[in-house]
Amino acid sequence: NERDLRLRKKYGIHVSGNNVPSPLQGFAELSTRYGCESYLLHNLVKLGFKEPTPIQRQAIPVLLSGRECFAKAPTGSGKTLAFVYPMLMKLKQPSKDGIRAVILCHTRELAAQTTRECKKMAKGNKFRIKLMTKELMRNTDFTKLPCDILVSTPRRLQLCICKKKKKKIDLSRVEYLVLDESDKLFERSLLEQTDSVVKACSNPSIIRSLFSATLPDFVEDVARTVMHDAVRVIVGDKNA
Ligand code: ADP
Ligand code: MG
Repeated sequence: NERDLRLRKKYGIHVSGNNVPSPLQGFAELSTRYGCESYLLHNLVKLGFKEPTPIQRQAIPVLLSGRECFAKAPTGSGKTLAFVYPMLMKLKQPSKDGIRAVILCHTRELAAQTTRECKKMAKGNKFRIKLMTKELMRNTDFTKLPCDILVSTPRRLQLCICKKKKKKIDLSRVEYLVLDESDKLFERSLLEQTDSVVKACSNPSIIRSLFSATLPDFVEDVARTVMHDAVRVIVGDKNA
């Protein structure tokens, strides 16, 4: 439709895939179109965010529509919020259904920073958002860990998948899996760990998304083998 095309052109958004949902005109549409709870809009105001960035305009509706997504947008363009907001909206309320969402980050520093941002965005709701620390790995009976969102590096999460029977982490109920800086996660040094986490998240109705500043062909090829009916969203120069 005309309006979608105009908005995408204006913000340098390129999409491919079937029936790609309309981009957001503004954050207000999160509540008018998607019934977003008021605490989330309030948090945007508190953070001082007035307009969605281009990647947020397109990736948020894609994920809210229950579609899997590959997204490429420059560093500093607000990718974290683009995957955290839809996740918070979809999870709705805290629950004790095991680990419901996983965010994979290629370094511990990025995982820690993403956890902090996630908590800021979730303020006012009682979601349990956990960072996989050494402490947590050592002392936790994962079968009893109340956790809505788990943020980890692939290495640490893989170690918990491989633990002895009882203490092993169960990822079979994960509903949302985000691979942040996915090009790094699929590099040779992390590929095997990333792959075991992706496999352990065995819920057939899982929604996976990849966010990155570059999207090399080999990453897209690997990802296409596991994702279904994914939408590709690219912001900026298509060929960069
Ligand atoms: P990326 O992951 O794309 O590199 P980040 O998610 O780390 O980018 O965001 C970069 C900065 O932009 C952060 O400081 C974040 O708080 C800020 N930011 C995110 N979304 C918005 C927005 N809609 N308006 C203004 N600033 C934003
Ligand atoms: Mg980022």
